[in-house]
Amino acid sequence: MGAGIWKSLWQGILGGGTATTRSIVEGESGSGGACGAGGTGAASAESRVAWKRLLPPDSFRVLFDEGTEPPHSHPLNREKGDGTFVCAACHQPLFDSRQKYDSGTGWPSFHGALPDALGFKRDYLLVVPRTEYHCVACGGHQGHVFTDGPPPSGKRYCNNGLALKFIPRGEALPSRRDAGAH
Ligand SMILES: [Zn+2]
Repeated sequence: MGAGIWKSLWQGILGGGTATTRSIVEGESGSGGACGAGGTGAASAESRVAWKRLLPPDSFRVLFDEGTEPPHSHPLNREKGDGTFVCAACHQPLFDSRQKYDSGTGWPSFHGALPDALGFKRDYLLVVPRTEYHCVACGGHQGHVFTDGPPPSGKRYCNNGLALKFIPRGEALPSRRDAGAH
């Protein structure tokens, strides 16, 4: 028991040295080809400069340097209102409040995401492979998805509050913006 996971772990580490950028297809839409065709999770140097101007430093660090906020540090962890969670950078809607639940981890947690909102990639920052996800529109890092979530999805999207904004139902969603916006 356990030999299989270590074998695949080492294959992942040793498999060509570019494992951190290997894309996997794990979209919510199930539509196949188009899934993940958008953001790559890596912003260009020009857009990094532009996002840095638009975002508070702690949000920029999470979104574009794959940072992680301390657990229990962000008010959105406790947000229980009805509404939509959008990307703090480009305002792409990512999660509905009906997908949120209290995982007890100290980070905003969701058991599902809005269709076609997220892109995925494997990362090995903690040696054990994890699935990183990012906003498909701007590539901004949001969090990691695990398989210990509640049924029926069994997924746990562990998100940084700093990478989200909450828009209560009934309020207009903020207009989408890109790194070139003034
Ligand atoms: Zn975004």
